[in-house]
Amino acid sequence: MNKKEEKTEKELIVAKIDNGIVIDHITPPGRAFYALKALNIDENFPHSVFVAINLPSRKFGRKDLLKIRNMKREDLNIEKLGLLISGSNIAYIKDYMIIEKEKIKTPKRISGVIKCPGLNCITSRHEDVDPEFIVLNEHQPISLRCVYCDAIFNVHEHISLML
Ligand SMILES: [Zn+2]
Repeated sequence: MNKKEEKTEKELIVAKIDNGIVIDHITPPGRAFYALKALNIDENFPHSVFVAINLPSRKFGRKDLLKIRNMKREDLNIEKLGLLISGSNIAYIKDYMIIEKEKIKTPKRISGVIKCPGLNCITSRHEDVDPEFIVLNEHQPISLRCVYCDAIFNVHEHISLML
């Protein structure tokens, strides 16, 4: 990489936000789109969102990065993010300073964030029964087993079932 390219990339990465969250080391690249879905960020979201896909990373080769203004810890469903972008890091920013950091971990068990694809599952027939799953493997791609009907499925292939 020559000097000029290096500078351009630094400028892209270093754009700072005053208040909000930065989710870094999202891998493999492209996963930032899932994170946006999990964060309920769509055309109605009122704050600035910076989405960087396919950034060079010394450690991972390529990664994604998200910066979301005015989002706070209490706005996040960390377990839901854990199904989609585990291994990523979240930094909480206040007045341009990092006030807290955490690593997103895969949950062991999860309820209420994704519907069961099982056709005869009690959770799809009765709305008052919350879908609940055992996480079968800690690493991506993450698969779940329904505690009610034993359906096993891959989270990324059923992203449309996310609540
Ligand atoms: Zn089920």
